Amino acid sequence: MPVLEEPIREKLVLKNYVGGEWVESEGELQDIINPGTCKVIAKVPFSTEAEVNEAVKVAKKAYPEWRKTTPLARARCLFRLKEALEENFEELSRIQTMEHGKTIDESRGETRRGIESVEVAAGIPSLMMGYNLEDIASGIDEYVIPQPLGVFCCIPAFNFPFMVPLWFAPYAVATGNCIVIKPSPRDPISQVRIAELVDEAGFPPGVWNVVHGGAEVASVLLEHPDMEGVTFVGSTKVAKEVYKKCGQTGKRVIAQGGAKNFMLVMPDADLEKTVSALMTSFFGNTGQRCLSGANAIVAGGDDRFYRRFVDTFVNTTSRIKVGYGLDESIQMGPLQSEQAKERVLGFIEKGIKEGAKLLLDGRRISISGNYPLTSFLNPTVFEDVSAGMTIAKEEIFGPVANIMRTEDFDEAIEIIHSSCYGNAASIFTSSGKSAREFQYRVRCGNIGVNVGIAAPMAFFPFSGMKDSFFGVLHGQGREAIRFFTESKVVIQRWW
Ligand code: NAD
Repeated sequence: MPVLEEPIREKLVLKNYVGGEWVESEGELQDIINPGTCKVIAKVPFSTEAEVNEAVKVAKKAYPEWRKTTPLARARCLFRLKEALEENFEELSRIQTMEHGKTIDESRGETRRGIESVEVAAGIPSLMMGYNLEDIASGIDEYVIPQPLGVFCCIPAFNFPFMVPLWFAPYAVATGNCIVIKPSPRDPISQVRIAELVDEAGFPPGVWNVVHGGAEVASVLLEHPDMEGVTFVGSTKVAKEVYKKCGQTGKRVIAQGGAKNFMLVMPDADLEKTVSALMTSFFGNTGQRCLSGANAIVAGGDDRFYRRFVDTFVNTTSRIKVGYGLDESIQMGPLQSEQAKERVLGFIEKGIKEGAKLLLDGRRISISGNYPLTSFLNPTVFEDVSAGMTIAKEEIFGPVANIMRTEDFDEAIEIIHSSCYGNAASIFTSSGKSAREFQYRVRCGNIGVNVGIAAPMAFFPFSGMKDSFFGVLHGQGREAIRFFTESKVVIQRWW
């Protein structure tokens, strides 16, 4: 397969998509660098305040007509979008690899997951139904009508440039709202390509808009008086700020934050299968997943089991093939940027300084193929990690695995609960009792039982607790439908 180096053809300088038009921004440009090859693949503008305001204005103008468009007709736009995404599946996946660095197979998985959200939202005629009760009093009926609200915005993280906006945007427009998406400036090309397909799918102008930029553009959207609600995915620090701002301005909000996920290994777990599941959990997407494993805890068991686990884990990790993601044989790509790599290197040094034992040093970089090493790291494994160490507490967001050991299950739960995060946690065991206990007690939004990446399907909510989530309703599925609509109650009597 030829290597596609310029994924967006003549649109090398990205444009905003506003009111169904591709609009050049007057804002400053920033290079988008393919972290595998270090080549500049596009330039992204940081839109001006006036350009962002214009996008919101256009979306607001499109809303009344779109709201009146029947749910069936709105669903048909989504069906056409789904077809267009399928037809361009491979190109969309390659774009993700080039702008983010993940392997082509990981990108294909991301494309599939994104399309699933469009598929689920296309069920809107059934999903958006209200409910009613006859005779709440003699001759009086009552019913609930879910109604759209107006304009929403979507501010996603960089780590799933294709999928994350699709956790929200299809539901926003299916319910009759209009949306303004501000992609991460680190890898915005996927959202440009999706918008081209939205255009082809025949959505009316102004329903689906894309404006480029960073924190400043996000702030304009967040504070805009015509913005009804905000969906945010990113670091906890920013999620907290977004949540606070939305509280102050009375906007509804979904704010998904950072994570530090624990993988609990019980001595009755199937060792081979567990280690295999942990490989994708810790090192898939180069550890840049909010559902990635970060700390593995071996709870109880004798020294022999512990040693066998550690040796198998390290041996399997050391065989992970690192390189440029468009090479089909590669199992782990680079970090998304040189800065992201620097950040991870800082954590590795901290881990060593604080006394963790370095079993596998990813700083000894060995990759397949002849590419600049700028953003590459190999997988790193630490042992003897204690709960108080920086590497155990803070989100590293890179290919670093910490191995911890506890006396028993209860001590492991205590450590899990000492974390400020509550995004995901998994248990590996052959005991239904332990699994049930884990599911019951652990304060995390997404729980895995013998599953390393507890990623909810599009028809289930993407949960999160503690500092990993701020809000009430979650993205995806029924909760997203509820988030993007208000329940109007009608009580009627005829005489
Ligand atoms: P980030 O917080 O730096 O940026 C996220 C988005 O917010 C970007 O679009 C960015 O341009 C914008 N932004 C940055 N500063 C802002 C500010 N002050 N005000 C408003 N907007 C601002 O996060 P990131 O580095 O892009 O993504 C990585 C983080 O995202 C990790 O912490 C990861 O765990 C988290 N994440 C969480 C989930 C989840 O579902 N909980 C999913 C994916 C990623």
